[in-house]
Amino acid sequence: MKAFYADEQKRHDPKMFLSSGAQKPNPEQPERVERLKAGARAAGCTIERPRDHGLGPISAVHTPEYLDFLEHIFVRWQRIEGASEEVIPNIHPIARGGSYPASAVGQAGYHMADTACPISGETWESALWSAWSAVEAAETVMSGAPAAYALCRPPGHHAFADVAGGFCFINNSAVAAQALRRQAARVAILDVDLHHGNGTQGIFYARPDVLTVSLHADPVRFYPFFWGHADERGVGPGLGYNLNLPLPRKSGDEAFLGALEPAFRRICAFAPDALVVALGLDAFEGDPFGGLSVTTPGFSRIGEAIAELKLPTVIVQEGGYLCDALGDNLTAFLTGFGGKAD
Ligand SMILES: [Zn+2]
Repeated sequence: MKAFYADEQKRHDPKMFLSSGAQKPNPEQPERVERLKAGARAAGCTIERPRDHGLGPISAVHTPEYLDFLEHIFVRWQRIEGASEEVIPNIHPIARGGSYPASAVGQAGYHMADTACPISGETWESALWSAWSAVEAAETVMSGAPAAYALCRPPGHHAFADVAGGFCFINNSAVAAQALRRQAARVAILDVDLHHGNGTQGIFYARPDVLTVSLHADPVRFYPFFWGHADERGVGPGLGYNLNLPLPRKSGDEAFLGALEPAFRRICAFAPDALVVALGLDAFEGDPFGGLSVTTPGFSRIGEAIAELKLPTVIVQEGGYLCDALGDNLTAFLTGFGGKAD
């Protein structure tokens, strides 16, 4: 299977975030890339550099003012006397229907959901190339490959059309799905990350052409708290085209594979022409977030099960944080998937 990644994606190096109010080192570390590259290679992937695809495929799912913010906010932030080294918000609108702020501080609060996505001078380039890796993987599948893997970092599934959050800036899975729509009348996104794919859900919430399905730790006591509940089903023409399958904390392989069954039933009923897998590996039992208890062989079984759908598939990397098995978990998923897809 072809994999896509550009070295610019490693430059983004966030320093901190707040966890339960405490300042902690940001877990979305550049080192993740090395583990994931090794994991992809061990599964037999060849890693290629994506082309520069410009802003077109990204603007298809993000607003112009948000992309302008991401590109320019760091330089503007540096002009504020006494400002932090990285762009981190400290005030948010309680509703988004009001006027759009002109100031850098106001816009940071408007466009950033939390403190987990600090913006430095390198962030924009890294996020662009991460999205272009997703576009390249989508184009590879549209050219006839049964599957392709996008080593997206920074990740994307918490990014809404105009809001960053949870280590995410550009929603790579949404970009891939929208790119696939050039050829595919219907696209399904299956998000198996530990956390609910709230940004992806938000982008497609009113649309019946892209089905969004997410398995994740129950947000009743887990990030992203405000989204990911079973009663969120879509709105307007998109009603019925969003399926959330929250799992009790510490659920393991059997519960996760069991929850894939209703996910697959919904996907098969939708009869998509292509699939995007938002592949978080943080459901792992040894992941620092510790929300679920999927094992390394479990990821292999999840990969096998998804391959049984027999759909043209773009696999987009989402979460999965530094632990000894991070690369092995990717190898397990890709090997399981590839063994059934070939
Ligand atoms: Zn996650």
